[in-house]
Amino acid sequence: VTGAAAATATIGVDVGGTKLLAVLVGADGTVLAQRQRLVPQRQDPLAPRDRRLPTAKPTGGAEPVRDPTGLVDAVAEEVGALVQRAGDHRVKVVGVGVGLPGLVGADGRLAGAPHLPEAVGADIAGALGTRTGLPVVVDNDATCAALAEWRLGAGRGRRDVLLVTVGTGIGAGLVVGGAVARGALGFAGEAGHMVMDPTGPPCPCGRRGCWERYASGDALGEQARRIASHGGLGAVVARAGGQVAAVRGEHVTDAAMAGDPEATAVLRSLADWLALGLANLLALLDSELVILAGGLAAAGSAVAVPVAEQLGRKGVLPADRPPVPVVVARFGPAAGAVGAARLALEARLVLDEGR
Ligand SMILES: [Zn+2]
Repeated sequence: VTGAAAATATIGVDVGGTKLLAVLVGADGTVLAQRQRLVPQRQDPLAPRDRRLPTAKPTGGAEPVRDPTGLVDAVAEEVGALVQRAGDHRVKVVGVGVGLPGLVGADGRLAGAPHLPEAVGADIAGALGTRTGLPVVVDNDATCAALAEWRLGAGRGRRDVLLVTVGTGIGAGLVVGGAVARGALGFAGEAGHMVMDPTGPPCPCGRRGCWERYASGDALGEQARRIASHGGLGAVVARAGGQVAAVRGEHVTDAAMAGDPEATAVLRSLADWLALGLANLLALLDSELVILAGGLAAAGSAVAVPVAEQLGRKGVLPADRPPVPVVVARFGPAAGAVGAARLALEARLVLDEGR
């Protein structure tokens, strides 16, 4: 290439339990383009699992990757589309980051994923690198979201930040003492599977009564369907096309944001559960700020305000602990994808420094 070098950009992909969001991000954190699709062929996470997973063809020398749902194909397609868009923005894509919903080990393999059991054990970075010809890094999706908000968003300049993604499940991203905390194996922050009640409802992780069974977007939808099946929540059911079975968490948050009192009450009971788990985490971490991310972040103050109120109520936080501010992610539901792009940029910067 002759003349001035194109500006640097990276691509971030957030693979959620339900949706896949891909963004093209400039080195300054500007989101230049984004694409969204459903995660292919999602299994019912509570259904019995088929252990005999088919194995995908090796892609040009890489070792075989279990990709029965075409996850690697789907991510590679989105990355390819964004690489094309990079030309329009006169930027050069130098790497890809992928946030995955589960336990991502230091070796980059997905060691466990209650909401994505099909992809467990897969070397997604290796397979994607081969497919796209770009350097690929992977990390936990909530850790990615925390990185985005700490570097570029609501947690900028802070040293101790607790970010919680609330979507299909719940995950936490931790900034402790001015650094992203990943734990000994890279598994830190699986807050959604803190057990709130060992006799509670079954969780895709195999245990009972996990926090995310009460406080996730999925739990919100479940609770709303239960109430709607008894004739309530008319405004929410209307948003789901009049079908009780089609009611999801976002229908509740949409109705609550439009001022519907019934939906607001359901969202408040979710906020109570969120605050209870956050209080447990704050007892451990002593964070200075709580950031809500994931699909629920789209509800903005409709969820952040009741969570902050409940957290500020006497007896919720440990005694003598002052209330902690609760805000929604600056990047909203895109925080995980933006953070994945940032992860790729920082990995690239480290490589450049080492030259
Ligand atoms: Zn669980």
